[in-house]
Parts: sequence; structure tokens; C-alpha cells
Amino acid sequence: MASLVLALDLGGSRLRAAAVDADGKLHHREEVATTSLNGTKAITDRMIAMSRSVLDKCAGEDILGVGVSSAGPLDSEAGFIVSISTIPNFFDVPIVAILEDALNLQVTLENDAIAAAVGEWTHGAGRGVRSLVYVTVSTGLGGGLIIDGNVLHGRRGFAGHIGHMSIIADGRTCGCGNRGCWEAYASGTSFTTRARERVAQAPNSSVALKGDTLSAADVFAAARTGDELAQQLVDEQADLLGIGMVSLLHLFSPERIIMGGGLSHAFDQLHPGIKARIERGAMPAFRDVPVLRAACGDDAGLIGAAMTVFRRNS
Ligand SMILES: [Zn+2]
Repeated sequence: MASLVLALDLGGSRLRAAAVDADGKLHHREEVATTSLNGTKAITDRMIAMSRSVLDKCAGEDILGVGVSSAGPLDSEAGFIVSISTIPNFFDVPIVAILEDALNLQVTLENDAIAAAVGEWTHGAGRGVRSLVYVTVSTGLGGGLIIDGNVLHGRRGFAGHIGHMSIIADGRTCGCGNRGCWEAYASGTSFTTRARERVAQAPNSSVALKGDTLSAADVFAAARTGDELAQQLVDEQADLLGIGMVSLLHLFSPERIIMGGGLSHAFDQLHPGIKARIERGAMPAFRDVPVLRAACGDDAGLIGAAMTVFRRNS
């Protein structure tokens, strides 16, 4: 009989479920588009249905509990999701109580970036270190921190909102309401917005015809084929990522910085610029810290949510 954890990962675009074993291997994985679910109850009902479906396939196994990774902000101590900006009207959802009532198993809730950090630490690019910073760059810019062998939670589990470090005084308005946040400059969304603005003023660029449909992937592809403006945009993006990472190096002295999220698909193109900024901006003793691409891919949240439960039971 194997010990398994039921893991759920609720994101703005995808809802995933799987049984995860202690080696981080996924079994009976299921996935659905969150956008296909209409309203809070439809989402929580589907989480319960997917959980039951996975649990049915694990009949006879020892289920240690349920680990939930979710977009946030969320209160991992009180067990509720405060809101998910990409899901309309999803506010103050007591997800732990809802799932515990339905499944009769103990449920642990974790912020998705912290869960992904744990996944990378236990089964990805962070194996074997005691301190790492995980940076996820996609729609938003988030993070999770492992410091001295412990997962950093802070008050109410809110630690690691690294995207809201101010990098420019009174700069661009951020989704959080403040101005000049790192996320407002270096998230995937900000990259795409900046690219569209700049391409609109440069009709000779190979990506100009894309207009408002221009995507981050288009810019990276154009840079690969030698488009000057696209390369300039990539270089600027790498530099903006590096600026925040310099602060993270100085604040936490990690052994590694690990980059995940949608923009990590172009990690090879961003890495030189990130390292160049670290060379210029970090104090000499911090410059040799490697910046690595995340290794768990889309499953980091599921793996990390499960490992959180395994670690509590060990
Ligand atoms: Zn912000």
C-alpha cells in the first residue's frame, strides 16, 4: 500500500488534480480550464468532483491528506482564498472547510508560488539546497522562498509577494494599486504591453503587423530571427528581471534563484541579460549565485502542495 496525497492546483486558467506519491510522481492526473467553470460554486463543485474521481482510482491506498495550491492572495493559516484576480467574483472562499466537509480528509492550503517553490526544492531545480528564491513570471510576477531549510510563510502565509517590491518611484500603476512595482514592469503581461506600445511606433519591425495581438512568444521568436526591436525588448525585459533579482539576492542570500512561469519558456534568451544586471548591480559576494530555469513545469504546484502535506506528516 502506497502513501499518497491528493493534490489540487487552482489557477486563473487551469484547475488540476492528481494523486502524488512521496517521490513526487503524479498519478491519475486530471485537468480542466478554469474559464469553463461559471462562478465560485461551479469551481468548488468541480474541485470536489475531481478529488472524488482521483480518490476513487486510489482505492486501497493510504491517503495522507489533501494539499491545495491556489492563486491568491490567500490566507493559508485560516484556510481561505481572499481573491483570485483572474476569476471574477471569487472572494473569501473558505476552500479548506469546503473540501474537508466534502472529502472527510485533512486539507492544507498553500499559495501557488510557495507551493511551486517547494516543488522545485524537493523535486526540481532546487534539490539539495537549503535556501532558494523561486520567481514565477507569467500573467503576474510572484515568488516563494525556502530559507535555511524552511518554507517562508510570514504573517498569514502572505510572504513572498516579491512582484510588489517597488523598483521605480511613482512608476507604472500596478494591479495592486501601488505604482512602480516590479510586477508592473517585469511580469509577462507588462512585457507584452510594453512590446505592443513600442511596436506601434516602429512599423518596420517584423512583428509590427501583429498589432494588439502581439504576444510575448512572438517577440521572443522575432528576436531569435534577428529583429532588432524584438531583441531590444527582450534585453530590457531581462534587465528588469535582473533588477528585482539583485534585491532578492541581497535580502535573502539564496543559493539559487529559480525562474518559472510562462516567460521561463524563453529562459535561454533572458538569462544573459539577467546575469549581466546581477554582475552590475549585486555586491561582488552575491554575483556567483546561479539563476536557473524551473524544472517541474506545470506540475510544480501539484508536487509542492503534496510535499507540504508529506512534510507535515513526516
Ligand atoms: Zn504591486
